[in-house]
Amino acid sequence: MRRFYTSRPEKRLELVVERSYAQEETVNSLKEGLSLDLADQMIENAFGIYGLPYGLAFNFFVNEKEYVVPMATEEPSVIAAASGAAKTIKSAGGFKSHIHSRQMIGQVALIDIPHADQAIQIIENQEDVLIQAAHTSYPSIVKRGGGVRSLSVEYLPATETEQDFLVVYLSVDTQEAMGANILNTMLEGISPLLEEMTGGTALMGILSNYATNSLVTTRCSVPFDLLKYKKIEGEELAQKISAASQLAQSDVYRATTHNKGIMNGVDALVLATGNDWRAVEAGMHAYAARDGRYRGLSRWWIEDDCLVGEMTAPLAIGTVGGSIKLHPYAQASFEILNIESGQAEAANELAGLIAALGLAQNFAALRALVSEGIQKGHMALQAKSLAISVGAEADEVQAVVRQLKLAKSMNQATAQTILDQHRKNKKEEI
Ligand code: NDP
Repeated sequence: MRRFYTSRPEKRLELVVERSYAQEETVNSLKEGLSLDLADQMIENAFGIYGLPYGLAFNFFVNEKEYVVPMATEEPSVIAAASGAAKTIKSAGGFKSHIHSRQMIGQVALIDIPHADQAIQIIENQEDVLIQAAHTSYPSIVKRGGGVRSLSVEYLPATETEQDFLVVYLSVDTQEAMGANILNTMLEGISPLLEEMTGGTALMGILSNYATNSLVTTRCSVPFDLLKYKKIEGEELAQKISAASQLAQSDVYRATTHNKGIMNGVDALVLATGNDWRAVEAGMHAYAARDGRYRGLSRWWIEDDCLVGEMTAPLAIGTVGGSIKLHPYAQASFEILNIESGQAEAANELAGLIAALGLAQNFAALRALVSEGIQKGHMALQAKSLAISVGAEADEVQAVVRQLKLAKSMNQATAQTILDQHRKNKKEEI
């Protein structure tokens, strides 16, 4: 069977159809991509389409289901690393992902409240009226089985700020949507009522990206005997990964990079499925600092001769809404994932997979860092990027890369010299 990795991109398009990852019609829609007309509908002042490489990661096994994972990323090594890590983890039974709950939180902030205690009392007494008003603002989500699940209120005194606030929070089941617009409509809908009830002024009503009611936990456990890597024994590797994980808990400089590695996976799939990666980024980083100090989002430890990895993170994503239905690549991604957008539980399934991809990427980075270092694996790809950056054509890249890997220093000047020499040699041969 032809290997996906070693095939040329045009052949990979055929393989996607041959292997039934997606239908021919879908693959053809990818060749056309996002049209400028559609882009013009999506944003203001559009005059072009900014492309990103779109590839597939393999070997993902999450909650007993196999996935081929589409990823949109410009960073070399990311997809290879994810596939390599997922292969090791699959050999040990794969990932188990668990959804804690799936609700979006939104807030209305009120200022100039004459009597905060009284206002809190009124809001609590009028909870049903407020929830009804929120539902009246966005009735279709209630018809779909969603709606407000809880309302709470908190007074924020002017201790660190000049202004005090009364904040009303709604937690809403948005079904298969990420829910930003659903929440914002509801919050603006109840704002006049809150002003009337409290005598205050609504400063704003907006969804929060700190999606602590959309938490996902993913976990994997790899026995030492499946962990052996390059020349390192499984137990030693496990000890080093566990130590690296602890470093990310105690050093913020490492924690930030540790989490960046996780986001290499998370963002690529969030983006590939047409979801809002800024929203996910904001939420996950805030969650990383939930105890007042920014820490690594994942932890790795040793238990019963196994390396165990776990990550809990807020993942407020959707399978409908926003640009998901509009973008041909987002549609193709759902088909490749074999997740039916809009179906009940699809968003939970996708969130569980995104978390697993983040943890796999984290495992790959830690494994490389504590063994041969990250640069060795990057060198070939770095050489390729350098060759392309100095203008090597497709049929010249391999030759330049081969020479660059042997060169004393790998930089643009060397790449340029090698390319010039290669072209000179070719001319002389003719
Ligand atoms: P939409 O505004 O597109 O709302 C969801 C749509 O999906 C609705 O039209 C709904 O139909 C439809 N739908 C179809 N099937 C379902 C289903 N099973 N469950 C739920 N809805 C369904 O998207 P969101 O409210 O999710 O908002 C996401 C967008 O908002 C993203 O583009 C995001 O970038 C953006 N945004 C993000 C903000 C933030 O993160 N802070 C702030 C503002 C915007 P119907 O109307 O019939 O119910």
